[in-house]
Formats: sequence, C-alpha cells, structure tokens
Amino acid sequence: MTKRETIAHLAGFDFRDTKSTFAHKSTPELRKSALLFRLMSKPGLVNFANKSAMTMADTGIPVAWAVKPTLYKQFVGGETLKECEPVVKDLKSRNINAILDYSAEAGSKKSDYESVVNETLRSIEFAKHNDAIPFTVFKPTAIGDTQVLKKISFNEKITAQEQAEADKFKARMFRIADAAYKANTRLLIDAEDFWFQEAIDNVVFELMLNYNRDRAIIFNTWQMYRHDRLEHLKKTITEANEKGVFTGVKLVRGAYMEKERERAEAGGYPSPIHPDKVSTDNAYNDALELCINNLDTIEVFNGTHNEFSTSYLAGLMIERNIPANHPGIWFAQLFGMSDHITTQLAIKGYNVTKYVPYGPVNKVLPYLSRRAQENTSVKGQTGRELSLIAAELKRRKSEK
Ligand SMILES: Cc1cc2nc3c(=O)[nH]c(=O)nc-3n(C[C@H](O)[C@H](O)[C@H](O)COP(=O)(O)OP(=O)(O)OC[C@H]3O[C@@H](n4cnc5c(N)ncnc54)[C@H](O)[C@@H]3O)c2cc1C
Repeated sequence: MTKRETIAHLAGFDFRDTKSTFAHKSTPELRKSALLFRLMSKPGLVNFANKSAMTMADTGIPVAWAVKPTLYKQFVGGETLKECEPVVKDLKSRNINAILDYSAEAGSKKSDYESVVNETLRSIEFAKHNDAIPFTVFKPTAIGDTQVLKKISFNEKITAQEQAEADKFKARMFRIADAAYKANTRLLIDAEDFWFQEAIDNVVFELMLNYNRDRAIIFNTWQMYRHDRLEHLKKTITEANEKGVFTGVKLVRGAYMEKERERAEAGGYPSPIHPDKVSTDNAYNDALELCINNLDTIEVFNGTHNEFSTSYLAGLMIERNIPANHPGIWFAQLFGMSDHITTQLAIKGYNVTKYVPYGPVNKVLPYLSRRAQENTSVKGQTGRELSLIAAELKRRKSEK
C-alpha cells in the first residue's frame, strides 16, 4: 500500500453497505432509479433526448411531463425554495445537510442577472433560518457579462462601457456576499469555464479580504483538473494569511474537461487541464493535504464523488486526531448521486451535505443535461450507481 492508501484505509468506510445507503428508498423507487441510470448509460439516447428537450424548451413546447417524473425527480429538489423543504427535512433526518442551488444557467440580459441576484438573496435568507442548510451557493457567470469577464481574464483592453459592466458585476458580487455575511451563512462561489475564472478569482479574493476576517464566509472554488490550481491555492492561502483573513476553499476536480481541451486546441493556446486523470487525482489529494496542514486559517469543502479522495480526507483527520465533526471540514455530493458516500460520512458523524439544485423545469434543463452527459462520459459513474442499486435489490430479495 502507498502512504496515501494507508491513510485512506484508516477511514474504514464500507461503501458496499447498500442496506444503509438505500434504507430511505422503497423497492419500486429503486427500480425506477435503476431504469433511469440504465437509460442514461446510452450516449446515443442521451444526446438525442438532450437535443430534443432543449429544442422543445427553446420553442416553448412543454417538456415537464417527460422530465419531471424522471431526471428531475432524481436530481432536483423542487421548483422553489419552499418546495425543497421536504427534501431538506428528509436529508437532515439522516444527518445530511443541504445546499440549495438555484440552477438557472447564465442569461445575457440585465434583468436575468438581477433575478439571479434576487433569488440568491432569497436563498441566503432561507438558509439563515434553517440549521440544515450550512451554505448558500451561486454561479458568478449568471450575474455578469461573460464576454467582459473573459476579456479581463485574458488581459485584453476593455472599453469604458465594458468597464461599467465589470463594475456592476463586482457590485452584484458584493451585494450577495454582504447579505451572506450579515446572515452569518457561508457562501460558495462555483467555478466554471477557464476563460472567465481569473476575473472572478480577483473579485472573490476581494470578498474574502472584506468578509473573512473572523471566519470563512466566502469560499472560492478550485478546479483541480487545471494544472495551475495547486500553486494558485498555495498563493491564495499565503496571501490571505499575510492579510490576516481566513480562506474558504471549495475543491472539485472540474466538470468541463472536454470543452476546455477543445477550446484550447481551437484557440491555439495550451490546454489548462492536466494531461491525465492520475495527475488530476494527485493534485486533488495534494490540495486536501495542503488544506489540512492549514486548518487554523482555512475551511475546506471537499466536493467529490471519488471514494478515495473522500476516504483520504477522513483518514488524514483520523491520523491527526481531528474530530469528524470539525466545523472547518465539509464533504459534499450532488443530490441523486453517490448516496453510498454521503451515507457512510453521515453514519460516522462527518459534516456532509448534498448540493440540491432547484428551479423551474425549463431553467434547470442545462443542469440536467450536464448530469446526463456526465453519467455517460465519466467512466464508471453510472456503472457504479447501477451496481449498487442492483446489489441492494438482490439483497432485499434474498431477505424475503
Ligand atoms: C458538491 C459538488 C459541487 C461541485 N461544484 C462544481 C463547480 O463549482 N465547478 C465545477 O467545475 N465542477 C463542480 N462539480 C463537479 C466536479 O468538478 C466533477 O466534475 C465531478 O464531481 C466528478 O469528479 P469527482 O471528483 O467526483 O470524481 P472522479 O469521477 O474520480 O473524477 C472525474 C473527474 O476527473 C477529471 N478527469 C477525468 N479524466 C481526466 C483526464 N483524462 N485528464 C485529466 N482529468 C481528468 C475530470 O475533472 C472529471 O470530471 C461539483 C461536484 C460536487 C460533488
């Protein structure tokens, strides 16, 4: 065993304990999920369904009848914050927290930006009154002109009008952060395309300087599939330490690998992505270790469905006598996926949360489309979900 494997082993998770994982699901519900994942494992079918659903939504044809009882039910909490309440309650009854994620994708009009800001402010208010919701979240690209963010990120000259747009973006970011600070609720800022990230990082660091003086309220996201992110994380922690503020760190591997590689090739610049999965995995686990080594000034949010990285962080905690419920260490998975990981963490008393997307069917279609694509393209994800459900159905049958 490698040193890291030995540490991960300390966690002692039983990811094959399907009885606990699916205790909250009836047999007909499990059969339905199995059917859904089986359909999602067929790339041709997913591509066809994706294109049809998007076209229908764009042309105003209702798609809810097809999507709502299937993909939506598996991956989305409800249309509104209020509608998500039963989901939040059910998760909490199993020691799992929730993060309600308004999953509308970027629009391009000022009114779209404002409506996302207002919904995010509502979600902060909602979290403030609910102990089961320790974080709020939003996508910065949904509240600003991405063309301007791209120009800034690439150090291109911008016009006075574009500068005005950049200022408005920053003001919206500050409005949301200020509300989170006043509500004393942590705020996760998602990461998306490499193109826009530098402009976003700069504003988020300003937010940390303003609002992370006493604790980590503002969390930026580091996509560890980028080969420059470990150094960037180290630099951010050092600078934050020098300025006497906490760093909120959300770690993910990154969801846009194929797109980033294609864009880099088409644009004639070097790919920002690690050359292979092993390098991404190593960078991710290095980042976990870096965070644990700096726990006095940072809080870490481990957003992954990777069994090893989950065990590795828990193992590091055990090795260093850090209690499972340490308030600065969080684990998270997406709603509808990898319940076997969430359940083991909850059973052993770690701080674990589900990202629960919400929003009207038409607005969350791009999110659902990404989940469906991911489940065909991410090697093993669907296979793993299916084999766990199959094992549980078999176990239940043999119990009769
Ligand atoms: C709670 C939560 C929040 C999230 N928030 C965000 C977010 O804000 N922004 C975002 O981009 N994503 C986000 N994601 C998605 C995340 O980035 C991953 O796409 C997804 O979780 C799969 O990675 P994994 O760590 O779970 O596990 P794994 O299945 O072990 O890893 C798959 C990932 O490894 C990387 N990878 C795979 N093959 C290669 C290769 N050949 N070369 C290099 N790298 C490779 C890719 O990033 C791929 O997605 C979030 C995920 C969770 C659970």
